[in-house]
Amino acid sequence: MQKIGLLWFNHDLRVDDNATLLRAASEVDKLICLYCVDHCTVSPGFEKPAKLSPQRRNFLSQSLQDLDALLDRYGQELVVRMEPPLEAIAQLITVHDVSHLYRSKHVGTYENTVWQTLRKRYSMLNFTECDTHTLLSSALLPFTIDQLPVTFSSFRRLIEKIEIPPPLGAPSSLPAPVVATDLYWQQAWQDKFGPTKNSKALFNGGASAGERHLQAYFDSTLASSYKKTRNAMDGMDYSTKFSPWLGTGSLSVRRIVQHLRHYELTVESNDSTGWIYFELLWREYFQWYGHAHKQQLFAFEGIADSAPTTSFYPERFKKWCTGNTPYAIVNACMKHLNATGYLSNRGRQLAASCFVHELNLDWRHGAAYFEQQLIDYDVASNWGNWQYLAGVGADPRGHRRFNLLKQAQTYDPDNEYVQRWTDGRTLQHLDSVDAADWPIANHSI
Ligand code: FAD
Repeated sequence: MQKIGLLWFNHDLRVDDNATLLRAASEVDKLICLYCVDHCTVSPGFEKPAKLSPQRRNFLSQSLQDLDALLDRYGQELVVRMEPPLEAIAQLITVHDVSHLYRSKHVGTYENTVWQTLRKRYSMLNFTECDTHTLLSSALLPFTIDQLPVTFSSFRRLIEKIEIPPPLGAPSSLPAPVVATDLYWQQAWQDKFGPTKNSKALFNGGASAGERHLQAYFDSTLASSYKKTRNAMDGMDYSTKFSPWLGTGSLSVRRIVQHLRHYELTVESNDSTGWIYFELLWREYFQWYGHAHKQQLFAFEGIADSAPTTSFYPERFKKWCTGNTPYAIVNACMKHLNATGYLSNRGRQLAASCFVHELNLDWRHGAAYFEQQLIDYDVASNWGNWQYLAGVGADPRGHRRFNLLKQAQTYDPDNEYVQRWTDGRTLQHLDSVDAADWPIANHSI
């Protein structure tokens, strides 16, 4: 009897260094390569699910088209479904007699609930999960996941000397497809989401664009000065810009490290190249942090003993989202994010610090907004960083409150960034009413 496999693609939109795809290729006779679009809404159950921003949708659509084209070289095709994964997968299992299910390990609660439900419902089938999103696989970690070090520093000390396995190549062949692809999934996508054009788009989605960017980055000498430039706020060259392709899994993190090591051997190894690796270890930490703390990654109190005293004020939230607060630098960050789907690390820190510490807002709403907007959205990196800044995460110092005025003077001394993204005007008052509910004069800009 033929073995029929189904690979549920998620944040592993590539054929290069994809352990899940290689495993499926070696085990089954025919294979369905599936991506479900429906799950792309923000934190179901927490607040009203929001639609992805046009920037994120556009990037994702390009990433799927590219994966489709890459699979086509193997005579394979990507099946893109617009319904929830549980429905789509159940239907495909029944109609096509699927015997083997595959996916890459994921931190998301929703994705894991779907997977566990499938495992229970179809216990007679074979289920396989592989690590494709991290430098190390869980088997190579020098601790069990429930013993993840409490701080990044202790994690780094345990990990940094471990040699990262080289990336796996692309498969030499793939099993034939089972389903004739919905040829017009791009049309269904347009019907659901409308056209997704963005003249301010900074990045092209997909593994092919990601590989070109990786090559170009290490063909230049930018890596040699990364440590000096990484805190800038605008431009393409001050940081690596690997995150958009890492987020969708179009680029393998092990492939990046392979290029980094090659650069260190053939061009230069210095503090800056070391710092790129240091940042990739931060990413690695947040991935395992997500696996270790599961739903707590999304909890108000995070991994702390008690919940913050912040709350939700719809007016403040809206002002923050649209870049209309009393803080010019934060307004510029939010307008930059809304226009491009990308924000520098410094900008994310300032926007998040303002959200929690100046506007006194519940950090989860800020994280959910970033989830909606960021083209490099990554469950673990986003929610982990937000927890960290809100003082309910893996930070030995409690919380991070940035002095926004001082930060603006340091990182935007000539006000160029603020001028580029805003007209420079700011709100005088945060709220339109006072504590006794009386209107505050001149509150709007
Ligand atoms: P570089 O500075 O060139 O760093 C290289 C790589 O290291 C990045 O691509 C990324 O994979 C990793 N990295 C760097 N800093 C961090 C960090 N603090 N945490 C985790 N990984 C890091 N990053 C995401 O990829 N997705 C997110 O959804 C995300 N949300 C964030 C939310 C907040 C509130 C904050 C403060 C940070 C968030 N980050 C997120 C981390 C960081 O801001 C971005 O990874 C970085 O700005 C991406 O640009 P780059 O690739 O040029 O980074």
